[in-house]
Amino acid sequence: MGSITLEKVSKSFGTTNVIPEINLEIADGEFVVFVGPSGCGKSTLLRIIAGLEDVTSGAIRIDGTDATHEAPARRGLSMVFQSYALYPHMSVYGNIAFPLKMAGEEKMTIDEKVRAAARVLNLTDYLDRKPRQLSGGQRQRVAIGRAIVRQPKAFLFDEPLSNLDAALRVNMRLEISELHHQLKTTMIYVTHDQVEAMTMADKIVVLNAGRIEQVGSPLDLYRSPKNLFVAGFIGSPK
Ligand code: ADP
Ligand code: MG
Repeated sequence: MGSITLEKVSKSFGTTNVIPEINLEIADGEFVVFVGPSGCGKSTLLRIIAGLEDVTSGAIRIDGTDATHEAPARRGLSMVFQSYALYPHMSVYGNIAFPLKMAGEEKMTIDEKVRAAARVLNLTDYLDRKPRQLSGGQRQRVAIGRAIVRQPKAFLFDEPLSNLDAALRVNMRLEISELHHQLKTTMIYVTHDQVEAMTMADKIVVLNAGRIEQVGSPLDLYRSPKNLFVAGFIGSPK
């Protein structure tokens, strides 16, 4: 399970309030995209959910349980970062296995999980390679593999494709959608790219200066944008 609820969550850095007070419900298995211009608070919100930032006020529930003060590692969520952050001296296998080794899992179990993740991500033929011997897209897949093996309640992606060229971005977008289709795990995906939002999301959360302007399906937002900001951002004809 992987439902996530934000209740009156606000965040200030010093005296600067970047997230006023927001409520949001994410259902188990949903693919939710946070979209909005640079600096609107997407990463901050994701980091709050991950537990990498404290809230200033409000509460976070994961599967109905209060996780507001839970350590990141105990939330059961997996974050996939923009930069690949792979260990250059380790093989693909070693990189994917790393979180399981840290968790003290048995060798046999680790091997099964790494190979299953590699199958899902088409990395089976690359397990012995080092990150420098991989393309950008393959490296991104290894980073996702490292998240998959932990069988998280939800995946959190922060602009995972922004370092890739345009063609590869389209490709990876399809792969992440396919991954969601296969795993049916909750995914929260942050982007400033409206095309990514419109093509990947079950539900889009449009953010503007820390506020939620609108929440809805791509079609909802396209057909009935609540205001000019949403219409302008989504590119619909209001
Ligand atoms: P986005 O990911 O949408 O580009 P961010 O969440 O990174 O936006 O940032 C939202 C706002 O919060 C920005 O104005 C940014 O400068 C500010 N901010 C983010 N992190 C910090 C921090 N650690 N200290 C102070 N201000 C921050
Ligand atoms: Mg960001």
